[in-house]
Amino acid sequence: MIILLGTKNRGKMKELRELLADLRSVKLVTYLDQPFRTVEESGKSFVENALIKARAVCAETGLPVLAEDAGLEVVALGGAPGIFSARFSGIPVNHEKNNALLLERLGGVQDRRACFVAIAALRLPEGKEFTSEGRLWGRIATHPSGRGGFGYDPLFIPDDFNCTLAELSLEKKNQISHRYIAIKGMNKILQDLAQKD
Ligand code: IMP
Repeated sequence: MIILLGTKNRGKMKELRELLADLRSVKLVTYLDQPFRTVEESGKSFVENALIKARAVCAETGLPVLAEDAGLEVVALGGAPGIFSARFSGIPVNHEKNNALLLERLGGVQDRRACFVAIAALRLPEGKEFTSEGRLWGRIATHPSGRGGFGYDPLFIPDDFNCTLAELSLEKKNQISHRYIAIKGMNKILQDLAQKD
């Protein structure tokens, strides 16, 4: 069974490839093998945006598509940047500026709790859809540390850790991340589909 990853984000692609490596009967393809148009994320929630991406790429390519929408919710900012995480500091997406803006908004704020959210959405050409959610709680550091991962990883300290996600190996991040939890929730469905194929 072929599944197309409905993302152009190389950080996500790398993580998703690793996370899905156990599904031996699934052949993963990315937009590098099967190009598709960029989809506007016009939804009002992570679920809507994940489904918008999965549906659009599936309609364009005719392949089963696994898309994912994710972001960071900061408690003291009322859940912002949320679905606007990628474009928090404007367009084009700039992770360094996003991190700088986040630190600025949290200047002097004691409550640094935050949560990464990921929604995985699978869309099959015959119209079936599945979604799965993953969350990772932690806190926002006062300065960036580490060179791994992407996005807000240099500022995010997961609960039970005393370093940022960017200081963890990809292997370790993939054992705890919101994306891992969302994909794990999708594993049974993917395995069932692969067996039927
Ligand atoms: P998306 O591509 O619309 O899902 O936007 C995701 C945005 O949320 C990214 O550009 C990052 O800013 C942030 N984000 C999502 N997942 C992660 C992660 O695992 N680490 C760091 N930032 C993330």
